[in-house]
Amino acid sequence: MKAMHLTEIEIQDYVIDAKSNHGFSHHIESCESCKNKVVQYQMLFKEIKNSPAPIFDFNLNEAVLKQLPVNEPIQVKRVFTNYLPVLVSIILLLLPLYFYRNNLLSVVKQTPAGILYMGIIIALIVTVYQSVGLSKKHHKQMNALNIMDGLQQ
Ligand SMILES: [Zn+2]
Repeated sequence: MKAMHLTEIEIQDYVIDAKSNHGFSHHIESCESCKNKVVQYQMLFKEIKNSPAPIFDFNLNEAVLKQLPVNEPIQVKRVFTNYLPVLVSIILLLLPLYFYRNNLLSVVKQTPAGILYMGIIIALIVTVYQSVGLSKKHHKQMNALNIMDGLQQ
């Protein structure tokens, strides 16, 4: 049993979901002050529940969307500036691979198979790990876009 009076938040929690607040019920039953507060909150919440939803004489979605910054052209620009360095570095990596392909091939042939397989496995693990990270990021961004889309409708 709780010796002190319940806080406002505890009483509100109790009123909202009386079943899951067993710790409070004993005090409330034995305390006139808290019991009165519970009754007051029950009436208040009932009133709030029964009050009609506010009706605006303007399009709320439109008003909110107008306030949001328009960043579509910036996003296109950002995608370009984000992936251009990646593209350039891939090309820079592929150029020596192409020009020294015969030397690299002989290096690969001289390397023991175990080390070669280990390198391939490590590369695969890193690639999968990176892909999963990218995929999660993409998923998050798509969810954010879907939420925005839902707001517009
Ligand atoms: Zn009390």
